[in-house]
Amino acid sequence: MPKSTPPETTEQSRAFRTYIAEKGLRATRQRMAVFEAARTLPGHYTAEDLLKKARSLDRTVSRATIYRALPLLVGSAVIREVDVGRDHKYYLAEVGPTNFRAQLVCEGCDTIVEVEAPFMEWYGKAVAAKHGMRPISQKLQVTALCDRCQKRRTHRP
Ligand SMILES: [Zn+2]
Repeated sequence: MPKSTPPETTEQSRAFRTYIAEKGLRATRQRMAVFEAARTLPGHYTAEDLLKKARSLDRTVSRATIYRALPLLVGSAVIREVDVGRDHKYYLAEVGPTNFRAQLVCEGCDTIVEVEAPFMEWYGKAVAAKHGMRPISQKLQVTALCDRCQKRRTHRP
């Protein structure tokens, strides 16, 4: 499979603007600040992290703006939602279509490591086909303990 290159920010900005316009929404300064923050935060982040970053770009961004913008950012494929079974979700800037990814989630500190696992995608398709089904989505999430958390647990009295 060819390796995909990250989409241009301007391309994503256009996609986001088009997406929200279709929903009858305007690309307000606040929404674009959230967009910019969502694009530039590194790794996995929470809605609160996003609020902090967006406010550093535009002080007038409210918590409500964040929560209303999140589904728009996910829907326009700017970011991806990662559910690790906690009360809050994590988000991750999308870098374009990639191979199937498996997630390793540290139970101690919620560190999320994503690894490409195209064989899993193949496996899902093969198993589904065997039952005359077509897969729509699938995920592989491994709960684990990172090196630091392993040490912390063994040192506990
Ligand atoms: Zn950990």
